Amino acid sequence: MHKKQCGNGVEMKQYEIVIGLEVHVELATKTKIFCSCSTQFGGEPNTHTCPVCTGMPGTLPALNKKVVEYAVAVGLATNCEITRYSRFDRKNYFYPDNSQNYQISQLYLPICKNGGIEIETAEGKKTVGIHEIHMEEDAGKLVHDEKRNCSYVDYNRSGVPLIEIVSEPDMGSADEVIAYLEKLRLIICYLGASDCKLQEGSMRADINLSVREAGVKKLGTRTEMKNLNSFRAIRRAIEGEKERQIALLEEGKKVIQETRRWDDGKGISYPMRSKEDARDYRYFPEPDLAPLVIEEEWLENIRERQPELRDEKMERYAREYDLPEYDISILTSAKKLADIFEAATALCQKPKKVSNWLMVETMRLLREREMDAEELSFSPGHLAGLIELVDGKTISGTVAKEVFEKIFDEDIEPKTYIEEKGLKTVKDESAIKEAVRRVIEENPQPVADYKGGKTKAMGFLTGQAMKAMKGKADPSAINKILLELLS
Ligand SMILES: [Zn+2]
Repeated sequence: MHKKQCGNGVEMKQYEIVIGLEVHVELATKTKIFCSCSTQFGGEPNTHTCPVCTGMPGTLPALNKKVVEYAVAVGLATNCEITRYSRFDRKNYFYPDNSQNYQISQLYLPICKNGGIEIETAEGKKTVGIHEIHMEEDAGKLVHDEKRNCSYVDYNRSGVPLIEIVSEPDMGSADEVIAYLEKLRLIICYLGASDCKLQEGSMRADINLSVREAGVKKLGTRTEMKNLNSFRAIRRAIEGEKERQIALLEEGKKVIQETRRWDDGKGISYPMRSKEDARDYRYFPEPDLAPLVIEEEWLENIRERQPELRDEKMERYAREYDLPEYDISILTSAKKLADIFEAATALCQKPKKVSNWLMVETMRLLREREMDAEELSFSPGHLAGLIELVDGKTISGTVAKEVFEKIFDEDIEPKTYIEEKGLKTVKDESAIKEAVRRVIEENPQPVADYKGGKTKAMGFLTGQAMKAMKGKADPSAINKILLELLS
């Protein structure tokens, strides 16, 4: 809810925003939707192409079965009805990145409809409805060359399979939009249907936003903002567009139905074009593809292969591993984290210790390296090995942190590494005694403090001795010797 205050403090009209999302997700198939070209991201321009995906006249599309299976899997996971008899349609438009002058999509009979997912909001749980999910092909990409004042076209992306997930206009704030997108992203990642990388464009959100006076039923005129590629840009675009529309209404002006481009650098949006209606595209059933029939057996088969999703995983972790709720929510916040947790725990049978390494050091390094948890690439066995080395007192906790960083970055084998680097804990008591003696000599004041009853000084002295041993000692051994020598 948005409140506007006048200069004299009199409360003005209240507005609420209504947001619906169209989310495009590139599916993780190896080949394109209607030909056998590679879908790999990057690559020299126009190398992943053939006559079909460059729209040569006379070529025919052949539907990739895996695309249908991923679309159905996402539909099942988002509580949709699966359309057993669906069809593809032609959406006609001209644009240089679309050489066939139409896109094969689904308008009349989308593969999934009437679903919804639950999100957490400040006011509690809320369901965001999913109007439909349809399959379609992606277009190529225009690359603009400012210097030469021209544009190039790369068809590598042309024909990459997409699903478009169209929500109901059920969201009322940027927070709800982010919660919805995060939930959707997790579901799709867990399914393995896409890597959902906003930065690389494998997940793109278009935001339909309108404002209306609080209490009014009728929806206001909406605008659409396209292709926002980070959660931060999405949040800022929503805030910016909300303010812009409210300002227009406050001035007694009208919001125009149009597509706008959000410039995140400048923090403002520009009109791109007036928003088209479906009829502008002259849709008609795609004559080159037979209707798609999903038999009961196929559907059951997909249903049986559905992997465990986050909600089920959270319940199972609570049952099987006896972990605090907080740990469980972090461990399942990315599929990769959950996979590492399960594999490492299976090896060392110490769920809480594995969880601590993932929640504390792993999270810290992810932040420092500005990485996403899905990019983690170390072997769970190396983490399990490290835990065994600490528990067996072969290395100290301090050394373990240093070794873990190496595991995180280079996936080193911890046992070999600590032997090569001579990081094993020193068991030789005389060496520890020697170090402790030196620390006592060099720190007369803390020693006096300790003797005078300030037990806190003990922590300092232990720390100094640990430092002198370069972390390669068992703190309890140091502590024992310190007590001995000081008494
Ligand atoms: Zn092709």
